[in-house]
Amino acid sequence: MPELIPLISQQEIKEKVREVGQRITLDYKGLDLVVVGVLKGSFVFLADLVRQITIEHEIDLVGASSYEGTSSTGQIVFTKQPDLELKGRDVLLVEDIVDTGQTLARIIESIQLLNPRSIKTCALIDKNERREKQINMDYSCFCLDEGFIVGYGLDYNEKYRNLPAIFDLKL
Ligand code: 5GP
Ligand code: MG
Ligand code: MG
Repeated sequence: MPELIPLISQQEIKEKVREVGQRITLDYKGLDLVVVGVLKGSFVFLADLVRQITIEHEIDLVGASSYEGTSSTGQIVFTKQPDLELKGRDVLLVEDIVDTGQTLARIIESIQLLNPRSIKTCALIDKNERREKQINMDYSCFCLDEGFIVGYGLDYNEKYRNLPAIFDLKL
């Protein structure tokens, strides 16, 4: 059986998400914010984050998948394009975790083609040790060097997304 080691508590997540939501609220005042979550891993974070953003905004989802097990397959598959018109608008991409950066870099490229006014990035976790693509992370809740984590939306082979806190997975 894989072992789950507690890493970030529900309380720590709650406090950090509130703080980041407040920063986004201030930064996007007067702008035309569209928060775009990256499926599937961001769905729990996204749901909590948008409830801490107290200015009017719209929400959309894109689907991208690159992982099987605990290592990248190297191929990024787009499973869903945005539904909303993003042209001329201020897009905030919300990811669960940025590791090599390949996924987010590809998503940024494809969103750029839709001519938004601005694109910024937000991640629950910035895992920097294996970064291959230089991406500017505008908002990160937590930074990690290494490890494979699950819970709060993050999966291992589609399991553990429902865990309310974040755990280190030891196989
Ligand atoms: P990247 O393309 O940056 O290497 O990987 C990004 C995607 O890989 C994330 O959106 C996430 O779905 C998955 N991923 C990367 N590291 C982890 C991890 O530690 N745990 C889980 N569950 N998924 C990860
Ligand atoms: Mg993801
Ligand atoms: Mg995954």
